[in-house]
Amino acid sequence: MGSGASKPPPKTKEESDRGKEATGSTRSNPNQVTSQGGQSSNQGSTSVRSGQNLGQREAGRSSDQQIKGTKQRGEPDQSVTRRGDNSAVQENQGQEASNQRSGQRGQQGQTRMEAASGFGNTAAQQSSGTGREDIIFETFYHKSGKEFQCMYLDGMRFYLDDWGSKEWQPFPKRWYNEGLLITNSVVKDQENENRRRQQQQQQQQLSGAGASGSRQQQPGYQQQSSSGQDDREGVLNHPKRGRIPTYIFQRKHNIHCFYDHTQGQWMRLPIGWELHHEMVGKLVDQVEEALPTWGDRQDILALLRQCNYDPDECMSTYLHLEGDPWLKAPKTHKEAKAAEEKDETIEQLRQQLKEAEESLKQEKIARVEAEKVVKDQEEKITELEVENKQHEAQLMSLQQNRPKTAMQRPKTPQVVTQVVKEETVNPEDIVLLNNTAKELRKAQVHLKMEVQRYFDVLRGQIAKAKDGVKNIKSTSSGSMEEMEEIRALYRKEAMQRKLLYNQLQELRGNIRVFCRARRDDRVSCCLKFPTDSDIVAMDNSGQKKMFSFDKVYDPNSTQEQIFSDTKAIISSCVDGYNVCLMAYGQTGSGKTFTMMGPENNPGINIRAMKELFDVCKERVDTVTYTLKVSLIEIYNETIQDLLTSDAKSLELRTAGNKVSIPNLKEVEIKNLDDIKKTMAQGDKNRTVASTKMNSTSSRSHLLLMLSVEGQDKVTGAITKGTLTLCDLAGSERISKTEAEGQRLVEAAAINKSLSALGQVFTALRTSQLHIPYRNSKLTQILQPSLGGDAKACLFVNVSPDVNNFSETVSTLNFGSNAKQIALGQAKQNIRKGP
Ligand code: ADP
Ligand code: MG
Repeated sequence: MGSGASKPPPKTKEESDRGKEATGSTRSNPNQVTSQGGQSSNQGSTSVRSGQNLGQREAGRSSDQQIKGTKQRGEPDQSVTRRGDNSAVQENQGQEASNQRSGQRGQQGQTRMEAASGFGNTAAQQSSGTGREDIIFETFYHKSGKEFQCMYLDGMRFYLDDWGSKEWQPFPKRWYNEGLLITNSVVKDQENENRRRQQQQQQQQLSGAGASGSRQQQPGYQQQSSSGQDDREGVLNHPKRGRIPTYIFQRKHNIHCFYDHTQGQWMRLPIGWELHHEMVGKLVDQVEEALPTWGDRQDILALLRQCNYDPDECMSTYLHLEGDPWLKAPKTHKEAKAAEEKDETIEQLRQQLKEAEESLKQEKIARVEAEKVVKDQEEKITELEVENKQHEAQLMSLQQNRPKTAMQRPKTPQVVTQVVKEETVNPEDIVLLNNTAKELRKAQVHLKMEVQRYFDVLRGQIAKAKDGVKNIKSTSSGSMEEMEEIRALYRKEAMQRKLLYNQLQELRGNIRVFCRARRDDRVSCCLKFPTDSDIVAMDNSGQKKMFSFDKVYDPNSTQEQIFSDTKAIISSCVDGYNVCLMAYGQTGSGKTFTMMGPENNPGINIRAMKELFDVCKERVDTVTYTLKVSLIEIYNETIQDLLTSDAKSLELRTAGNKVSIPNLKEVEIKNLDDIKKTMAQGDKNRTVASTKMNSTSSRSHLLLMLSVEGQDKVTGAITKGTLTLCDLAGSERISKTEAEGQRLVEAAAINKSLSALGQVFTALRTSQLHIPYRNSKLTQILQPSLGGDAKACLFVNVSPDVNNFSETVSTLNFGSNAKQIALGQAKQNIRKGP
């Protein structure tokens, strides 16, 4: 209970509001908000209103609030129904009552929202449109290694010392420089992203510019993104190939180890040692023989390790990149420098070659032009020669026809004489013509000589250029051939890789995500089911959102149908697989109904155990099976064993990806009676525990864990499979009016674990190197069933009520996030028998 409990609580909403104004401390002390909020929720209609701005919060909730109010005065009320698991009648009564109230609340909440912020009037907008009424939970990672849950409320930040305490302390300013704050977002959406940005800004303002600077300087405290950026992706800037994308693939790998007696454990063999190993030495020899140019045994072994000790792959990888400057990484600084100088010289030579090529090109152009000029000149000469010849011929004929004496001249009539007179050639003209012809001949000879000389020069230049081209061609042809070979190899390799990738995809399984809409005849359904794998959610304003899952179950689906679709995966735990089924959704959406179900219409749990019995019975001739069951509850990050009445919380022990819970009680079950007895015992203990803790079932995660161990009667081989059924805590967001000490701590714990689950899904989906299982108890326990070699099923449960639209969309978003996860191929847990 909050510290504010010491203060006498106001009696009505009005008083409550006045009280808030008077003290002015409501905003800065969430522990006080607590008692007021908690108290008010117990004050008849007025108080219901004050506690209800979240019309969309559904069912069960208001009955929870009633419990809360009652118990806050320290009077645990045993008669209040807390779980619907095996007491459907009671739960349904509570449900009815709360559903009636939720109608009122919807309206009241609406009015309040409008008055407060002037925002729209749909349930969706109340919660997700403005985000004003939600409380933001964060995790603070202090540099000392400690981790604190924080809460951001009305511009103030608080932290929780530990999960046991309900006292929220103001967040110390100096801490901004001493660690990292991360918003816990269950579903990554735009709203959360905006919120995160806003908070970051506020954080920076609070801590001052210098503070954010110093935070950046601290290695390991840089801002991390919980959105799940792929840290396997990278890039290499290669001197020849330019920007090359890289990716760290996850493969099965052989690791060569030696047994260290002093440490008493297996340790990795250093390369130097491994070279002396007979078998490995031979592999290295084999590669060295095939590739004598390589000549670095350590290098060969390093690549062999990378290629999983396959010499063929090692050789082809080397050949594929042979001659690459990076392949022979320099061993010393001197070598590196020499290599650098060599690179520089090569670069210079390349530059020179480029320049030579350029000048050759210019010369070629000049030659072509010169050739053109020469051709023109030749044509001109030919024309001139022809002209010359014509002139000569003309001259000759003129000379021949010239009359020797005046007597020879024909006597012609006057008129004719005149004409003849005009035709006669003046001897001076002839002399002139002769001279011209001589000059022309001279010019022709001169021109011919010039052209000849020009041709000689050109021929010389062309011969030189040809030599140059030949040289360039001979130097580059070698590398061209090499390049062509590399290209061919690359193409082959890429094709093979694609083939392998396709095979890998085929081998992979997905987390199967099913969606189930609960049946609720009292409300109008805001969901549509266009196909058996699609669901459409619609709000009052007609806003529609569509989601696809592996299968969508409409409200009319039966428990049998649900079970029949999961039967195959469940029964595979008999073959030694780790199987996990989870139900996610807001309170009242039917998680418990799906997982546990009422006694007369049981859910997956009882049916699964029955099925496992049947499968085991079928194999009774060959395998002896032992089935053990344990039941735990995770409440406020503490683990409670529900099969013992011992109130002590359990610790988790993790080693690698193995998780164990020491002292957890496991009960062997042999028949249906055993199951019923065990479940009843668990139920009873849960009620007692939760009454003690003043909590409700919707605020904790319930995990039913079944282990199936089989021993083959012939070979003695032992298979061990587990089935984990997980009824998660309600995923609904908490609003400020619900803010009371215990409720706030519970909400922080649920938010932490569900966002951790979301982060694990995101990390798995983007195949990150680090999967953040350790972020919560829930994900730690589920690790063996969520990792690469397990089979998992997630049920997202939604309510058909339009008032729950916002939570429904949030739940469907969560499911979509998980849907795209590709798990590794599921693996059987088999070991040799004793
Ligand atoms: P949650 O565990 O998610 O809080 P419950 O499983 O307790 O929700 O369901 C709330 C109420 O709705 C219970 O009374 C339950 O019997 C009823 N209910 C849930 N799903 C269905 C369904 N598919 N058909 C009929 N009743 C349902
Ligand atoms: Mg439940």
